[in-house]
Amino acid sequence: MDNKVVAVVGGGAAGFFFAINYKALHSVDDVTIYEQGKTVLNKVRISGGGRCNVTHACFDPGDLVHYYPRGRKELIGPFHRWSCGDTVGWFEERGVPLKIEADGRMFPVSDRSESIINCFIEEANRMGIKIVKQCKVSIDSLKDRRLTLSKGASINPDVLFLAPGSSKFIWNVLKANGVEIVEPVPSLFTFNIKDPRIKGLAGISFNDVEVVSEYGSYQSRGPLLITHWGLSAPSILKLSSVEARLLSAAHYSFKISVDFLPDLNPDDVQDLIIKQGGKKLGDKNPFGLPKRYWRKLIEVAGINSEGRWADLKKEERSLILESLKACTFQVKGKSTFKEEFVSAGGIDLKEVDFRSFGLKRYPGVYAAGEVLNIDAMTGGFNFQAAWTGGYIAAINAS
Ligand SMILES: Cc1cc2nc3c(=O)[nH]c(=O)nc-3n(C[C@H](O)[C@H](O)[C@H](O)COP(=O)(O)OP(=O)(O)OC[C@H]3O[C@@H](n4cnc5c(N)ncnc54)[C@H](O)[C@@H]3O)c2cc1C
Repeated sequence: MDNKVVAVVGGGAAGFFFAINYKALHSVDDVTIYEQGKTVLNKVRISGGGRCNVTHACFDPGDLVHYYPRGRKELIGPFHRWSCGDTVGWFEERGVPLKIEADGRMFPVSDRSESIINCFIEEANRMGIKIVKQCKVSIDSLKDRRLTLSKGASINPDVLFLAPGSSKFIWNVLKANGVEIVEPVPSLFTFNIKDPRIKGLAGISFNDVEVVSEYGSYQSRGPLLITHWGLSAPSILKLSSVEARLLSAAHYSFKISVDFLPDLNPDDVQDLIIKQGGKKLGDKNPFGLPKRYWRKLIEVAGINSEGRWADLKKEERSLILESLKACTFQVKGKSTFKEEFVSAGGIDLKEVDFRSFGLKRYPGVYAAGEVLNIDAMTGGFNFQAAWTGGYIAAINAS
C-alpha cells in the first residue's frame, strides 16, 4: 500500500497532538502541519498565564463531561478512550511531569508552557513531521480534500485533519462547503459592573458565592473577586461559559444576583442578625464577609455603622438580608479573562462521528479542538478536549 499524505491545518494544540500520535502509528506516512503564523503553538505559549494549564485532575469521564457546556453528551465516549489520566501519562513518558494544584488544575512541574512546546517540537522533529509556517490553508473542496496553500500550491491529501482553532476564515470556508457551523460567541469572560458597593474594593475576594443571571437558571457556585472593572473569578467565569449564548443575545447587558451566603437560608441569616444584640454594626460581621466589603455594604445602604444590631429597623434588616442573599448587580459589558478565553460555537456536533472525530459526510476529513462547537469552563478542560480529539482522530485516521 502507498504511503499516505496527511495534511494538518493549524499548528496549535490539537494539530500537534494529532500529528505526533498519527506519526507514531504510521511512521512511513508523510505528515505535514501547515501553520498560518510565523510561530506555532502560540496559544499554548500564553496559556494559563504562561504556565499552561494542560489538563485537570478529574479522572472520571462521567464527572469530566460536566465541565463542558457544549460537548457534554458527545465527549463521554471519547473520554472513556482518552482522558486526563492518559494526558498526564503521555507527557510524563516524554519527560514532562505534571503537578496538581489545590483546585485540581494541572500544570507542568516547571511551571512553564515552554516545557510543553519543547516536548511537541522535539517529538515532531524526531519523527520527521514537516512544519510549514506562514502558510494559510484554504479548502477548495472538502469532499475531494482539495486545498490551496497561501504559497500558491494546491494539494490533495489522503487524510485531512482540521485544527485551525477558532478561525472565522475556516468556519466560512467550511460553511461554503456545506458544513453546518454554529455561530461563534465568546465564552470565559468577566463582567463589567459599575456599582457603588464594589467601587474602590478591587482585590477583595469571597471564597464561596452563588451567582445567577436574570436570563438563565444556572447557579454558578465558587469564588468571586472584585476587580477594577467589575466581578471575576470562577463563579463568574463558569456562568459566562454555561450561558455564553444567552448573554451574547442580551448584548452583555443583564442583571445578576449574588448569594454571598449560599450555605445559609434566609431564616439562618435573620437568626444571626438577632443574635448580635447590642453589638455595633460596623464591627466584625457575623457572616464572615471581608470587613471592607461589609462596611461599604452598610454605608451604601444608608445604615449607620455606629448603630446597634438590635436597633435595626425592619426595612434595614430586609435590606441587609437582600444584600447578602440576593444582591443584584447590573452588568454592562464584558472583559477578557487573560488566563484563558475561548469561543462557544464552530462545527455543529451533528457533523462529527465521535468514535473517530471524522466528519460524517466527508471521508478522510477529521477535526478537533476549538474548531468544533465544544468548549469548557476554565481549568485545563479546553486543552483536554483538544488532546482527546487529536488522539482519537490519529488512531482512526488510518
Ligand atoms: C490567553 C489564553 C489562555 C488559555 N489558557 C488555557 C489553559 O491554560 N488551559 C486550557 O485548557 N485552555 C486554555 N486556553 C484555551 C486553549 O488555548 C484552546 O482551547 C486551545 O488552544 C485550542 O486548541 P486548537 O488546536 O483547537 O487551536 P489553537 O491552539 O488556537 O491552534 C490553531 C492554530 O491554527 C492556525 N490556523 C488557523 N487557521 C489557519 C489556516 N487557515 N491555515 C493554517 N493555519 C491556521 C492558528 O494560527 C493557530 O496556530 C487559553 C486560551 C487563551 C486565548
